[in-house]
Amino acid sequence: MIKTDALIIGAGPTGLFTAHQLKLIGLNCEVVDNLDKIGGQCIELYPDKPIYDIPAVPECTGEELTNNLINQLKPFDIKFHLSERVDEVKKNNNSWEVKTNKGTEFSTPNIIIAGGVGSFEPRKFGPKDCEKYENKSIFYSIKDKSIFKDKTVSIFGGGDSALDWAIELSKDSKVNLVHRRDEFRGAQSTEGAMKNLVKNGKINLFTKYQLRNVNGKDNLESIDIEHDDKEIKNIKTDYVLGFFGLIMQLGPIANWGLNIDKKTISVDTEKFETSQKGIYAVGDICTYPGKLKLILSGFHEGALAARACFKLARPNEKYRFEFTTTSSNLLKRLGKKE
Ligand SMILES: Cc1cc2nc3c(=O)[nH]c(=O)nc-3n(C[C@H](O)[C@H](O)[C@H](O)COP(=O)(O)OP(=O)(O)OC[C@H]3O[C@@H](n4cnc5c(N)ncnc54)[C@H](O)[C@@H]3O)c2cc1C
Repeated sequence: MIKTDALIIGAGPTGLFTAHQLKLIGLNCEVVDNLDKIGGQCIELYPDKPIYDIPAVPECTGEELTNNLINQLKPFDIKFHLSERVDEVKKNNNSWEVKTNKGTEFSTPNIIIAGGVGSFEPRKFGPKDCEKYENKSIFYSIKDKSIFKDKTVSIFGGGDSALDWAIELSKDSKVNLVHRRDEFRGAQSTEGAMKNLVKNGKINLFTKYQLRNVNGKDNLESIDIEHDDKEIKNIKTDYVLGFFGLIMQLGPIANWGLNIDKKTISVDTEKFETSQKGIYAVGDICTYPGKLKLILSGFHEGALAARACFKLARPNEKYRFEFTTTSSNLLKRLGKKE
């Protein structure tokens, strides 16, 4: 069981800046995110798009903003638990006990939910039997491409991820690319490169087909794909990859006994506390009169929630407001000389 002054759920821009604020005032924190990377919507949905309304930053992309927030955390030692979804939150006397889907457990007086629009989850294949092979022969993201070397891989999808991986894996694997339409949604140059590989026999392309069945015992052996005109083909394959984009689900957060209104959590505007003492909600996931779903609002909300955590984490101390420019305490924590 990991003990911490505060647990942050969500490593989007709000969670990151909230972590900074907690560390600055001398509290420990750990951060959990369901994604395998830091940055929330900025990194997952628009890494290359410029943002124009971050105060004092005239223009930066989603990726640049994320990198700057990560750099701002450099003076502090913060543990990130990525690819883990917080599933359970339970009260135990004056603490909250929190458990992730990977079994990591935390005990903390403060939970800050910075969960945005919920956890991002891959859109999955329809046939029920696919679950049996998930993370063994069926994947929705690639961590280690070497496992596909000299194997047959069937890739489903028509966007950039499906096309990029079909091109990349065709170097060392036998690749089938299956898409339910004729048109692709990837960049034109990528589509062109993929079609050249199809012409040269490096990729087998099946358009207007969808996955109908997966066949095998312990190991996946083949799949059945069905054409729009109902014709079924059986394809021998070692691996199946699905790239259908992400869905956002409030998921387990809906079951923690909080005041939820249209997929957002009601909070006060003094501490950004929810209906449960010691549980705060900040960023896109919180709501209150006048709430603006902007990154700058999340920064403000995180700064106030962090100060509220102090009282429960250090019940015998009084929180004293200080500026980073002039406080020797804060400068020390930031690793700067006075
Ligand atoms: C295309 C687009 C353009 C935008 N442009 C702008 C702009 O120009 N200016 C602006 O201010 N805002 C913009 N926004 C909005 C901005 O991105 C959001 O306001 C911001 O990302 C909210 O940050 P957050 O940290 O609250 O949530 P998010 O960025 O959504 O991060 C939440 C994180 O929590 C994680 N999570 C959720 N539930 C769990 C769980 N149970 N366990 C573990 N992890 C969990 C998620 O995986 C996610 O990584 C834009 C949004 C989009 C989609």
